[in-house]
Amino acid sequence: MTSVPAKGQVRVFADYDRDVDERCDVVVVGSGPGGSVVAKELAEAGRDVVLVEEGPPFTPQDFEWDGGRSMTRTMREAGLRTTRGHVMPTMQAICLGGGSLVNSAICVRSPERTLAGWCSDYDLEHGSRADLDPHYDAVASFLGIAPTPENVQGPRNLLFKRACDALGYSSEPIARNVRGCRGSGECFTGCRSRAKQSMDLAYVPAAIRAGARVLTSARVERIAMQGRRATAVSGRVVAPFRGTPSWRFRVEAKTVVLAAGCMATPVLLRRSGDLANASRQVGENLQFHPGTAAMGVFPEPTHPQFGATQGYQSLHFVGEGFKLETLWTPPALLAVRVPGYGLELKRHLAEIPYAAEWDAIVSTNRSLGRVVSRWRSLDPVLHWNFHPEDFRILARALFVLVEMFFAAGAKKVVHGVHGLPDEFHSIDEARTHERRELRPTDIVVAANHAFSSTRMHGNPRHGVVDELGRCHDTDNLYIADTGVLPRSPSVNPMFTAMAFAHRTARAIAAR
Ligand SMILES: Cc1cc2nc3c(=O)[nH]c(=O)nc-3n(C[C@H](O)[C@H](O)[C@H](O)COP(=O)(O)OP(=O)(O)OC[C@H]3O[C@@H](n4cnc5c(N)ncnc54)[C@H](O)[C@@H]3O)c2cc1C
Ligand code: SF4
Repeated sequence: MTSVPAKGQVRVFADYDRDVDERCDVVVVGSGPGGSVVAKELAEAGRDVVLVEEGPPFTPQDFEWDGGRSMTRTMREAGLRTTRGHVMPTMQAICLGGGSLVNSAICVRSPERTLAGWCSDYDLEHGSRADLDPHYDAVASFLGIAPTPENVQGPRNLLFKRACDALGYSSEPIARNVRGCRGSGECFTGCRSRAKQSMDLAYVPAAIRAGARVLTSARVERIAMQGRRATAVSGRVVAPFRGTPSWRFRVEAKTVVLAAGCMATPVLLRRSGDLANASRQVGENLQFHPGTAAMGVFPEPTHPQFGATQGYQSLHFVGEGFKLETLWTPPALLAVRVPGYGLELKRHLAEIPYAAEWDAIVSTNRSLGRVVSRWRSLDPVLHWNFHPEDFRILARALFVLVEMFFAAGAKKVVHGVHGLPDEFHSIDEARTHERRELRPTDIVVAANHAFSSTRMHGNPRHGVVDELGRCHDTDNLYIADTGVLPRSPSVNPMFTAMAFAHRTARAIAAR
């Protein structure tokens, strides 16, 4: 016996009491920024939509303020996933709303130059900024994306502006998908005031209002095909946080959209019989934005717990391959980067109320990796290595951050570079080390922006999906996560992935 939820219904783990069998027009796998846009747009276009999400929904009562504990609940592999080759941490969420529940809500359009480069290098005819702007606009207006207002910046964000002004670097308040942000700086552990317009609060409810059915705690394990047509997805209901499998489910659909994230989608395609892989590009070309951060300590208190998590940015160096931002994380996570032992460590931690943390993310277009399936698991193995030229850009970006801290009046900078003094006390001291040849393992890096593992290419021999997100080898199988980005968007990837997802939804609705 099977059970079928009514239109507009959400099913959580406790609701399942038997196997589930559904039929619909469109099944969307994954409720992150990509999948939820597709679900809402198609439900509003009158399609019967089922949205399937492996993670559970979270409410403010479920959020854990402790960073480590929060990660064990909201992130895959408890937030400890890393690449192999160059070992680099990378986090992917597992929850209704995907990465949007834990991210900093930064929404930046890819620069015109970056998109023009994609068009010429990946045979894309409609990928210019002018082509994508209507899709960016639609997402921006639905989510209320706007620059961070001054009253919630807090000192650590405004010091960044001061630094840029002093050095003549352009800077601006970051545009974010928030409404009524209070500047609590806790985006990473979940916005308790519900200001962040994460997908579980914005696009998913809109999809439900338009009649979409949502299955949470439902892990898709296989995509069924008949010839060139995808016909269904199937899998198991899984217990939140533990993943223990229970009831089976199957959703038959006329169209299948995969938006499980750029690490899960390639694994699903491979496990389902190496689908959509005539180009041999499924799982290839994996790219990241490796990021590094430094902490400046100022003479006056910065009250770093107050202020939008990431409120200010500089696109001044995007042409050189890096973007600069302010940053805040729960102090326990910040402590991981703080050098020293015993009393020295305590001294550094006591300085946090006087500190600001800023980061640089790098477009590493030469550093390509792979997503490989793991035996009997949906968790991927990730191979990735730093290209020496890309690493040089990261090292330069770190020294720009150091320079900025001193320009803003910091009395010292804690940079976390192995082999250099733990802290610099002046820009002159920092400059004596700037020319030192560093190795990738000398700098602490992490990367939560990942993309391109099922890249878009106009030529079916070189890419997995076409410009509208349809897998080249199929009639009705689409991908709508960051995996479709041809390469680095030069800026934070969520907004561009959503613009693509919006275009994909429009294309499906027009069929
Ligand atoms: C801490 C952090 C901060 C970040 N900050 C920003 C930021 O401020 N701005 C920005 O642009 N980017 C940011 N990012 C990156 C951004 O969040 C991601 O690029 C974005 O979420 C990717 O969207 P997506 O739809 O491709 O995939 P995801 O958001 O990963 O969503 C995929 C969804 O699919 C589900 N899923 C996976 N496998 C299955 C399966 N087999 N069955 C069913 N469901 C499945 C997952 O549980 C997940 O909910 C940040 C990321 C992190 C981790
Ligand atoms: S800074 Fe605080 S209030 Fe603002 S969006 Fe993030 S968590 Fe919500």
